[in-house]
Amino acid sequence: MNAPFPALLPTYNRTPLRFERGEGSWLIEASGDRYLDFTSGIAVNALGHAHPALVEVLKTQAEALWHVSNLYTIPAQEALAEALVAHTFADTAFFTNSGTEAAELAIKMVRKYWHDQGQARETILTFEGAFHGRSTGAIAAAGSEKMTKGFGALMPGFRTLPWGDHDALRDALDDTVAAVMIEPVQGEGGIRPLPDQCLKGLRDLCDQTGALLVLDEVQCGMGRTGRLFAHEWAGIAPDIMMVAKGIGGGFPLGAVLATAKAASSMSAGTHGSTYGGNPLACAVGAKVLEIMTEDGFLDAVSRKGALLRQKLEGLLAAHPEVFEEVRGQGLMLGLKCRAQNSDIVKAAQTAHLLTVPAADNVIRLLPPLTITEEEITEALTRLERAASSL
Ligand SMILES: *Cc1c(COP(=O)(O)O)cnc(C)c1O
Repeated sequence: MNAPFPALLPTYNRTPLRFERGEGSWLIEASGDRYLDFTSGIAVNALGHAHPALVEVLKTQAEALWHVSNLYTIPAQEALAEALVAHTFADTAFFTNSGTEAAELAIKMVRKYWHDQGQARETILTFEGAFHGRSTGAIAAAGSEKMTKGFGALMPGFRTLPWGDHDALRDALDDTVAAVMIEPVQGEGGIRPLPDQCLKGLRDLCDQTGALLVLDEVQCGMGRTGRLFAHEWAGIAPDIMMVAKGIGGGFPLGAVLATAKAASSMSAGTHGSTYGGNPLACAVGAKVLEIMTEDGFLDAVSRKGALLRQKLEGLLAAHPEVFEEVRGQGLMLGLKCRAQNSDIVKAAQTAHLLTVPAADNVIRLLPPLTITEEEITEALTRLERAASSL
């Protein structure tokens, strides 16, 4: 007899680890085994697990009101929008439940903007190695064979350019292009940062041609690189930005932030969401933002990121046969491997350190932004053990 089809749709290759609890930078199995979490749910649990202030705010909101339709005014949603506007380039925010939904709105916003301008600008330029989510629109945007194969006709309007090819970008970016969509630091693509001068150059090209600049900061945003948003390092601002992952600290929440100009055609009825911006998510999101913007928080991310990076350089020097390069910024770091990345992730897991593989044979190190220096030292001891075991 054939094995029964799994009750759970088998779209993930899961390890058998099953965690029962989280505490700060640690995940704990039922057996009591403790794992140092350098994944943060892939850049989601930015303030670690079970942060007392987030637990408190979620409990309080849960006792008051979980859900109310966006037909009504939601004060927590307005407060979070105002806080995000105060801390960023944006004039306005729309809340979603995920990064993928943020990508969908960003694409719609670009299309509607040019439609209402009466101009047939339909091409959105994207880049190889990009990841914008798994919806039909988001896979079309990223354009990789791996994500799109077998899923039928793709949403038209995207053109994927090679990563880091300035000539290809200059040739493609003219005044027929609607927008450029890019991650300031590619996450799934292998922790590939766009150098500041390239992001500045891209902003200039967009200004010259009128194309909108759409940044996907779903993974690199919310303090990950040591600034609230990664593009701040380059001293530029996008027209539209996708946010998710870290903004909810583990509660599902995403957002599209935009300038008044880019958002100008999104009038009542042009977009919506049942759950987007619900009171639970917004209460948690506001607390996350409040903590991240407290004096010294982001500086500490940079300092700890520099410490981790320095230690990783030492590891690389000790194991040149295993590792090739350290990449990234702040606490969004990647180790490009010579050995197979999945073998290193496995060996680290055996040493009770959790890491995430990425494309380009990279392992990602995405600890909670609240990681301590002692925990960084402990992680290096475990990575050292993992590298030696190969
Ligand atoms: C994770 C991710 C997304 C998709 O977010 P979901 O919340 O999984 O829908 C989009 N863009 C980037 C850069 C991401 O890392």
